[in-house]
Amino acid sequence: MAKKKKTLKIPVQKNRCGLCGKTRNLTKTECCGNWICDDEHNYVMFSYARNSCHRNHNHYTLCAHHHTEEHEGDWESCAQCRSSFTTEDYVWYGTNEYNFEKLPDPPAYEPTKCSQCATVIVLSEDEYSKLGKDYFCSECTDKRIMQRAEPTKK
Ligand SMILES: [Zn+2]
Ligand SMILES: [Zn+2]
Ligand SMILES: [Zn+2]
Ligand SMILES: [Zn+2]
Repeated sequence: MAKKKKTLKIPVQKNRCGLCGKTRNLTKTECCGNWICDDEHNYVMFSYARNSCHRNHNHYTLCAHHHTEEHEGDWESCAQCRSSFTTEDYVWYGTNEYNFEKLPDPPAYEPTKCSQCATVIVLSEDEYSKLGKDYFCSECTDKRIMQRAEPTKK
């Protein structure tokens, strides 16, 4: 009788996407060499959907920006990255969920407020419009469009 082969259970260290934890169709990021979903093809052109880990990391992080702009040193301490964005954007790019490592000690910033009604606008999430130095929340933007679209009475 042939001896039964003992199957040793070796825990397989699977690579996982550092952002969402999936284990299939992975690739490595060019900027930081982390495993990430190879899912850029899921992205529908001009949809601005944020459903692709790969695309999100490439478009919405300082890590990728720092790499594509060929800055020197670490992005966390890069002065060029710091001066490339407004503080609010810089903090968001450095601390959003598309980062493998988040910016330590993000600088404080004054929240952006609507010039008309003073509602705080989160530039990365809210809809807004910008006119010169002024920002308008989506509500005020709509009002302004309505006002402009209103036919002039004769
Ligand atoms: Zn992923
Ligand atoms: Zn990266
Ligand atoms: Zn940089
Ligand atoms: Zn407003």
